[in-house]
Amino acid sequence: MSGRDPLGYYEVLGIHPSATAAEIKAAFRRKAMEYHPDRCTLPNATALFQKINTAFSVLGNPESRAEYDTEPVKAGPAQGAKQGSARRPPHDPVRCSVCDKVSAQPIYVIFYRVTSLVLATRRDGVQGIYCKKCAEKACFKATAHTWLLGWWGFPWGPIYTLSALFTNLVGGKRPATVNARVLAHQAQYFADIREFDLARAIANEALKLALKLPPNKDNEAAELRAFLDAFIAALPSTRTLLLPSRWDQIKRMTLAQLGAMVLLFGGLAYSINWNAQQEHEEAVASYNPTPAPDPQPVASEQNNSPQTAQNPPPSSTTCDLPAGAPPPPSGYVVDCPNNTRPSLSYERPAQAPNGNPWPAVAGYVSGYPKKYTNGYSTISIDNGQNGSDVFVKIVAEPAQGKAFPIRQLFIPAHGSFVAKNVRAGTYDVRYENLDTGDKEGTPSFTLTETPVSDGVEYSRYELTLYTVPDGNMQMHPLSDDEF
Ligand SMILES: [Zn+2]
Repeated sequence: MSGRDPLGYYEVLGIHPSATAAEIKAAFRRKAMEYHPDRCTLPNATALFQKINTAFSVLGNPESRAEYDTEPVKAGPAQGAKQGSARRPPHDPVRCSVCDKVSAQPIYVIFYRVTSLVLATRRDGVQGIYCKKCAEKACFKATAHTWLLGWWGFPWGPIYTLSALFTNLVGGKRPATVNARVLAHQAQYFADIREFDLARAIANEALKLALKLPPNKDNEAAELRAFLDAFIAALPSTRTLLLPSRWDQIKRMTLAQLGAMVLLFGGLAYSINWNAQQEHEEAVASYNPTPAPDPQPVASEQNNSPQTAQNPPPSSTTCDLPAGAPPPPSGYVVDCPNNTRPSLSYERPAQAPNGNPWPAVAGYVSGYPKKYTNGYSTISIDNGQNGSDVFVKIVAEPAQGKAFPIRQLFIPAHGSFVAKNVRAGTYDVRYENLDTGDKEGTPSFTLTETPVSDGVEYSRYELTLYTVPDGNMQMHPLSDDEF
């Protein structure tokens, strides 16, 4: 997919698709001069000049360039997984744009690089499809460049520099549409080479991204979802394979930066806060000539600090279990591909969707009616190995009509709950991770009550919200509507 130039934009500027932002800008200036209709006598000068402008309007912006660089996935029969796939040529793998390696989790990333000189400040995107190693290197280079050369311009130098450093620090900008495309292509490639488990895992990652996309103008998001659903369903593999969290990919070197930024911000916040405190004290003193002495100026200063007063506690940025949690049994993997980095806009709901408070311990959320309570079956839900609280819905899937929830429960991190007296029927379980907002669901399952000689034999269904390699539980991501 690297080296793509479907509309000839790179070609018209006379550059290779791997050109840097600076090269694109320089090529545009050169070509625009050369083919300016006032200057150029070629008969097609106007058309060429327009194409050069169009090319630059797309390639000159990191995000539209990312879209141009990657190929949309068209919905259709998911041939990738079918046996008869030999009839069409196999998919090309997505390769790292730097080292050409084929990896299971290529990512399209944009890092920012700021260069300042007195009154001029320039911000460039450094972008491409990267493997893990090359992403780290590109991030490091862009960040080091910005640390050294970004600050020294007035007035935008420090502002662009801070924003670029922050973006690079969190692993760069990773446009969701573009990355869903990249992963969908890579899943097809792995299906072609019969690595079905890997194909499924990558397609699931792509689906998670696709579910977060807003429906865009070409309906690409819906097509992508339809394609991925069909693709996953057609795969012969049923194993759950967990890929390492993508966000862990660019972590090592950013920790060093984080330290430096904390120092900088800490110093800045402290001095601003100290000034504010001084002013506050002066104001109090002028208002009340005999103020009570403040016994602990330092403590009150900390209380005023927006950093301590308002910021939520930092959430874990790795898949580590919280302190005190039992380590997972060997052979188990912590299922938190997404809880490593809650989206910036997600806020943990303070109460259940019906407005009632979350229960203090595992149990039903008050205010929701319990339905189908005249049976004998049980559904055990084990959240014991998960470090996040969850909101769970047990959903009945009647033979006709819409599915509806019969129980709504809350299970704290490391807790579990058994829903009892569930009537025979078909159900599925959906849950929301309250720390990240991620929603997942099980396939449907059937509870039975069978009369036997000494009574009734009924089902016990056990679900662990924790993925076991080779486990029988296939969780799939859900959109807000599906939840
Ligand atoms: Zn690479």
